[in-house]
Amino acid sequence: PLTLAGIRPQADRSDAQAERRAGAPTRLCVVVPVFNEEEGVALLIQRLAAVLEGMRVDWSVLFVDDGSADGTLRALRELHRIDRRITAISFSRNFGKETAIAAGLRYADPNADVVVTMDADLQHPPETIPTLLQRWREGYSVVFAQRSDRDTDGPLRRLFSRTFYMLFATLGQTRLPQGIGDFLLFDRKVVAAMNRLGERTRFNKGLYAWVGFRSATVPFRVAERAAGTSKWSFRRLAKFAIDGIICFSSAPLKIWSYIGSAVSLVALSYAAYFIGETVLLGTDVPGFPSLFVSIMFFSGIQLISLGFMGEYLARVYEEVKGRPLFLVSEEIGLAAEAARPAE
Ligand code: UDP
Ligand code: MG
Repeated sequence: PLTLAGIRPQADRSDAQAERRAGAPTRLCVVVPVFNEEEGVALLIQRLAAVLEGMRVDWSVLFVDDGSADGTLRALRELHRIDRRITAISFSRNFGKETAIAAGLRYADPNADVVVTMDADLQHPPETIPTLLQRWREGYSVVFAQRSDRDTDGPLRRLFSRTFYMLFATLGQTRLPQGIGDFLLFDRKVVAAMNRLGERTRFNKGLYAWVGFRSATVPFRVAERAAGTSKWSFRRLAKFAIDGIICFSSAPLKIWSYIGSAVSLVALSYAAYFIGETVLLGTDVPGFPSLFVSIMFFSGIQLISLGFMGEYLARVYEEVKGRPLFLVSEEIGLAAEAARPAE
């Protein structure tokens, strides 16, 4: 082992921090995005609070109301009245779950040692949280809860998600761990890292992988939704998947130069063949079907490639406009801090 003669070992800053905190209980903040979960929130809090109370941690819960149109906000105010540790922010409209989680990470208790994100519908069992925290105590900075089955998804959705992972793995430069979602634990330094990402089109799963840090996974079984219905239509899922690939890969932009070169090569050899045929055998009937087919085919390819450019251009446009990622219309139970993150 390495010895440094004459140097007295001294605890570094992070050790000192750990020591200072050793006596005090861990501060844990649970972030939950909610969209029309009027009945769900109370059901969640019942089970979640029971788990948190049993953990001897200093806990708080931050709901992010993603512009619900039902009584969700009322239910959240009621919960805050009952227990001050339950807090919320409410968006001015529906901005989507990815944005709600981004907001949750920014508004989460700034003194929290760890932040846990989870769904409101009890598909993510709160009983897994102690295990997540256990792994964090072992020294992991990100602890993913990994679904051990996909029983609650239909066959079509399963096929869709498998295809997506396959595409993402071939096109993207970022590796996605299989079966992870938005149920995970972040160390405070990972929260800080996530909060530094300024992009507007958010694909959290990719971002979790992109920021790096030492990570562990803990398996859990996905439960059935406790109340209400899933907000993911097929269209929403498709948009989500396209966002995911475009945010993390520029292959769809670049692939066209290869396709174009291949097509030109084929066209050139076809031309050579025609010249040979005409010189040796003389002209015969003009090839009108091949003309028709090739025009249709290549206009198709051109439109597709233009479409891809458009997808990227639209996202560049979104970023350039620089609009805030979300707008908060109400804060429930948050310390009135002047220096709250603006977006
Ligand atoms: N959600 C949200 N904004 C949305 C859609 C969903 O905040 O636009 C929340 C929703 O309230 C729930 C979580 O995201 O807490 C997961 O949504 P859902 O259960 O509908 O998705 P699924 O489990 O079907 O993937
Ligand atoms: Mg759900």
